Amino acid sequence: MAQVQAACDVCGGALVPEAAYCERCGARTRRARRLVSVAIRVELVLFGLVVLMVLGFAWIYAVQK
Ligand SMILES: [Zn+2]
Repeated sequence: MAQVQAACDVCGGALVPEAAYCERCGARTRRARRLVSVAIRVELVLFGLVVLMVLGFAWIYAVQK
């Protein structure tokens, strides 16, 4: 696991543990940036699965005729 970020990268202000944003300048913490990138990746995977499902159903529909 990555170590807990104790200070803001932008302004150097102290961060509360588990903070997503710096209370002083509003910059996102490293933890929040990582969570956002993970969320985007999960979203892309889910979107790909939906596309595959739609394509699969379209293929089944086309084959059945
Ligand atoms: Zn800051």
